[in-house]
Amino acid sequence: MSRRTKIYEGKAKILYEGPEPGTLIQYFKDDATAFNAEKKGTINGKGVINNRISEHVFTRLGHIGIPTHFIRRLNMREQLIRQVEIIPLEVVLRNVAAGSLSKRLGIEEGEPLPHTLIEYYYKDDALGDPLVAEEHIACFNWCSNEEMHDISSMAIRINDFLCGMFAAIDIRLVDFKLEFGRLYDGDYSRVILADEISPDGCRLWDMATGEKLDKDRFRRDLGGEEEAYREVARRLGLLNNEDTGPGEVFDLSHARSRLRGPPPLKK
Ligand code: C5P
Repeated sequence: MSRRTKIYEGKAKILYEGPEPGTLIQYFKDDATAFNAEKKGTINGKGVINNRISEHVFTRLGHIGIPTHFIRRLNMREQLIRQVEIIPLEVVLRNVAAGSLSKRLGIEEGEPLPHTLIEYYYKDDALGDPLVAEEHIACFNWCSNEEMHDISSMAIRINDFLCGMFAAIDIRLVDFKLEFGRLYDGDYSRVILADEISPDGCRLWDMATGEKLDKDRFRRDLGGEEEAYREVARRLGLLNNEDTGPGEVFDLSHARSRLRGPPPLKK
């Protein structure tokens, strides 16, 4: 297999050049970090599960008209995605008080919020991803007003859809994080959903027992993180044939000889 060019390595994923211009390969690692990478560890099999869960969620979001970077899953740990320019914001949606919101404002974890909250954090590891207001986003031109409008309306639709999707499998979507990117077409760009949606970036609580089925098991040393991630995938119906798919790494040179370009994004 040919050597691949690494474009970027993050805490939980690696991006490699894709088989064609405008595409990347997103590789899901088992590495887990918390508290701005002060805590590091591994969750066995996490990359495989997150790849499947994110594929499922992005595909379903595509069906309701949310434009996303996802093209298709390539193998157990990798997916083909559109290359975008990441907007430097973490968009957090909250339905129930938990985590940093509870800490910051002294609201008990588990308290339902009167309505969904959207928060924006400036993506900067050195600064610890600070919470920012829309005023800061406009002032420092991290994205335009038009892009903010698209981001917030997509985020609300995504939250509505995901709350229902998880409720159907007895999971409460407490909060989650989204990232968006700019997809360029000549001089024009549009905002599409990027990154991943998986138990790494969501709080998912079992509706009956309140048990945490997400990365808080790792952050808070609760144990059983592998089982929790697998349980989410199992309830979503994603654990069939898991061991019979292609391997974990994509053969770029072979693929270049047979792949078509990325499918056009729906207008
Ligand atoms: O820590 P906090 O309560 O602000 O997190 C809110 C939500 O955003 C959680 O679901 C968490 O998993 C997610 N998050 C994330 N990446 C970050 C910060 C938060 O996925 N860097």
